[in-house]
Amino acid sequence: MNIPNEHIDMPLLREKGVELYLKREDTIHPLISGNKYRKLKHNLLEAKKAGKKTLLTFGGAFSNHIAATAYAGHEQELKTVGVIRGEELQDNWQDNSTLTLAHEHGMQFHFVSRTDYRLKNEASFLQKLKETYGDVYVLPEGGTNALAIKGCEEILTEEDTVFDYICCAVGTGGTVAGLINAAQPHQTVLGFPALKGDFLTEEIRTFVHNDRWKLVTDYHFGGYAKVDQPLIDFINLFKDKTGVPLDPIYTGKMLFGIFDLVKKDVFAPGTQILAIHTGGLQGIKGMNRILKKKNLPLLNV
Ligand SMILES: *Cc1c(COP(=O)(O)O)cnc(C)c1O
Repeated sequence: MNIPNEHIDMPLLREKGVELYLKREDTIHPLISGNKYRKLKHNLLEAKKAGKKTLLTFGGAFSNHIAATAYAGHEQELKTVGVIRGEELQDNWQDNSTLTLAHEHGMQFHFVSRTDYRLKNEASFLQKLKETYGDVYVLPEGGTNALAIKGCEEILTEEDTVFDYICCAVGTGGTVAGLINAAQPHQTVLGFPALKGDFLTEEIRTFVHNDRWKLVTDYHFGGYAKVDQPLIDFINLFKDKTGVPLDPIYTGKMLFGIFDLVKKDVFAPGTQILAIHTGGLQGIKGMNRILKKKNLPLLNV
């Protein structure tokens, strides 16, 4: 699948002589958008090949991976189980638009406390889940494993060799790892983590074959799913000027970061940047509910 790159024309970019293109992976599918489609592709083939009937995976209440897995399972006639972080959601998950969407596509939920959720990679915890749900195909949190990274290596194509920088939002690091492996020797990959923490560099290192990459850690806005007014204003302005919607958890923060680096002359005039629009737009609805409660301006859709 070859996704087109869209040229982004904004006054700051023209002023600094920086060329920015967006790879519109968000257009792959309204629900299994972007990198979650890439990460599931080879895993679904593997699950089918192994004769599994059920996918089991992990995520929080806003997880695009949970939404995507539910949809993909529905489409491929595989049952899905979501191990969801936060016991308190047990009684009010209907108020959460991501979980409602996943439920509509047949996902069964297994709510666990934040403490138990931390055990999600332990063999004994997985064993218990298998006793409950049978011979399931387990996808880790965010869907990141070797097959997912293989899928993300397919994001870049021959036409993308013209770019100097490849930029991508980072959650678990699987997507950026695929990009790093697929990038050309003259290209640098910049990852923009959407959450706080230094563990990501080590994690990504275990998946990649070169060191032509860097994490830009200044644009997480306080942590995963945290937003503030300047970020919301930026996302709304970007939509208004370019017509491209950004999600508030990942791609909005990455593009805010790219524009800030352009402003600070980090990129020389003539630099060509390709930013990956990894999707995540299903999360806007849920974020707007939170913004409304906090009396903050809403994201335009
Ligand atoms: C999950 C997600 C990411 C992060 O992907 P990782 O492979 O976990 O780093 C980035 N953007 C969007 C829109 C996502 O849904």
